Amino acid sequence: MFSGVLKKMISEFGNEIVYYLDFENEFLIMNQFLDKKMKLIFNGYECLNCKSDEIIFRQGYCKKCFYDLPITGDWIMKPELSKAHLNIEDRNLEYEKKIQIQPHIIYLAVSSHLKVGVTRKSQLTTRWIDQGAHQAISLAEAPNRFIAGVCEVELKSYYSDKTNWRKMLENNFEQLDLKKEKDMALKKIPEKIYSQLIPKKDDPLTINFPVVKTPEKVKSLNIIKENNFEGTLKGIKGQYLIFEDNSVFNIRSNEGLIITIK
Ligand SMILES: [Zn+2]
Repeated sequence: MFSGVLKKMISEFGNEIVYYLDFENEFLIMNQFLDKKMKLIFNGYECLNCKSDEIIFRQGYCKKCFYDLPITGDWIMKPELSKAHLNIEDRNLEYEKKIQIQPHIIYLAVSSHLKVGVTRKSQLTTRWIDQGAHQAISLAEAPNRFIAGVCEVELKSYYSDKTNWRKMLENNFEQLDLKKEKDMALKKIPEKIYSQLIPKKDDPLTINFPVVKTPEKVKSLNIIKENNFEGTLKGIKGQYLIFEDNSVFNIRSNEGLIITIK
């Protein structure tokens, strides 16, 4: 039996992705539970910042922390709103400079359909794994989050920036030649932005998730409502646990919940 506060799983790239759950006192290799019966029990809330037992508002934080912390500023979801490169503070300039003023990658990924995204260069593979992308390719490197964000906004007129999580989990994805898609995408970036980027030469990356049985019609598990759940783990993909009865549990959207795993 293990108990702890949910935080998004840590992943390790390899022939098959290995997932870890950091439960403070325990560091669980999640792949070991594949094909085994698991019980999840909901035991309350603990804000990932202030540790209060207030209801979790978003991203693992209570409402107060969510609106206070620099890590949940609007520029996280909308990189084009980044202003640290202009020395303009949103919530904490020092923090924002550290995160925003570093190389970012604009990429194409296929988890359900082709989508465009932006992430810190240091986070690239992790980002793709978290999305459950089967394949992904870097387009270009930008010197900071703002330029990457502006480039993404341009490309959003051609590509989606969202993943259809049901299709992703059901392995229902488009077959595409990502090298070709990349060449086409680069041509769509306006010169004014393109001149500030370094085009990337990397090949597409293929990601293999530890899934022994692909679910058919997935249903989202609401552990707060159900209070507990029992099922046989059949896969882990993106940040989802996939069970034999087609229930799927999104660890990321349940951050800050105190959970017992049996
Ligand atoms: Zn809090």
